[in-house]
Amino acid sequence: MDSVMRDPSGRTLAARHGRASATAAVRGVLEDLRRQIVAGEGPEVSERTIAEAASRLLTGRGLRRVINATGVVLHTNLGRSVLSEQAALAAYDAATGYSNLEYDLRSGSRGSRYDHAVPLLRELTGTEDALVVNNCAGATLLALAAVVESKASEAPEVIVSRGQLIEIGGGFRIPEVLALSGARLREVGTTNRTRLSDYEKAVNENSSAVLWVHPSNFEMVGFTESVGVQDLTSMGLPVIADVGSGALLSVGEEPRVQGVLRDGADLAIFSADKLLGGPQAGIAVGASRWISAMRNHPLARALRADKLCLAALEATLSSYLEGTEKDDLPTLRMIGAPVLEVEAKATHLAENLRRSVPGLDLDVTPSVARSGGGTLPTFEIPSFAVRLGGTDPEALADDLRSADPPVVGRVHEGRVWLDVRTLLPGDEEAVIGALRDAYG
Ligand SMILES: *Cc1c(COP(=O)(O)O)cnc(C)c1O
Repeated sequence: MDSVMRDPSGRTLAARHGRASATAAVRGVLEDLRRQIVAGEGPEVSERTIAEAASRLLTGRGLRRVINATGVVLHTNLGRSVLSEQAALAAYDAATGYSNLEYDLRSGSRGSRYDHAVPLLRELTGTEDALVVNNCAGATLLALAAVVESKASEAPEVIVSRGQLIEIGGGFRIPEVLALSGARLREVGTTNRTRLSDYEKAVNENSSAVLWVHPSNFEMVGFTESVGVQDLTSMGLPVIADVGSGALLSVGEEPRVQGVLRDGADLAIFSADKLLGGPQAGIAVGASRWISAMRNHPLARALRADKLCLAALEATLSSYLEGTEKDDLPTLRMIGAPVLEVEAKATHLAENLRRSVPGLDLDVTPSVARSGGGTLPTFEIPSFAVRLGGTDPEALADDLRSADPPVVGRVHEGRVWLDVRTLLPGDEEAVIGALRDAYG
């Protein structure tokens, strides 16, 4: 497939988008000038002032494409995972036409949006049923709310280890999500050590579930002990496992969704836009009983995934089923690229920069990339960067961010580091353009 996405008329989507937003910006500037003229303010009108004002508008506002030269693959601030071309095209199709989102094509009657992606998830994880909502935080909330509601108790409790009362990504805190779900938190064990006997002692007639949480974004070393999903299943309560990153393949030490299910979790919950490499979504897989309870809970409607997400997710999951995920999904490609390949990419960029922007102070240096997005916090991915010096690094980083498209690098040891592991096909040109405009 062409490495650049094109719409049916052959224009690249990037070009279309760029043109549309630039046109809108220029129109906005002209309207402003017209207002000022009518008000008798006599503004300076020249091609340059209009272009500058439009460029200010473009850089200051709106969601736009940026070049990620940070080396952090699932960069939370830069949109986490990059969709595969197949996923983007599926979303494009769903966006620009009608779809069978809630329509059963066989019977010609109403269908359910909750049916999409379910057969794929069943096949990939071997579970009975699945539900897709708009993110993992939502899926966790909904799972807890559904399980707690099914417990005939005035004060339903959910048991959680003190070592797993974590905060993810500034705002998602397990104790708070639990409270929102209507459950009472029953904390057991200590921060560093929790044993099965701690859980067992906490069980009473109000116990409605055990929540196991993968402490995604930190690691504890030293005198620690925790209880795995397999042992928790001996307690006779539903076990909800918040797996977080949703690795369907082995990536570092990250728990795999299939592993947690094999260990007996009743529900496994994970993000679709972390290591899975798909669109923003939260996925719950597991026992039909609990998935149905989630689907029928009033909160499901508030958390439902939209058609663009479902289309992109199905295409992403199809890559896994076809065994082409490591080639198709940019997230896995970037994490898995051999370091020699990354070094060659850095050398290539450096050579082209030397040619295009003579006099630029630069070298190629080993660096450390990360998977990011609150996954594999201590996993260092050997990488390479083009390092820029010869000027105030903050000013240089600023110039790169003002380029179109903006280039986001890292200031480190008095230089700007452009880690090439996270550069996508076509990004090299944009980086060269940005530096040529600023220093050429
Ligand atoms: C990332 C993460 C979440 C939140 O996922 P979102 O998709 O950002 O909502 C929840 N739980 C765990 C364990 C996570 O790692």
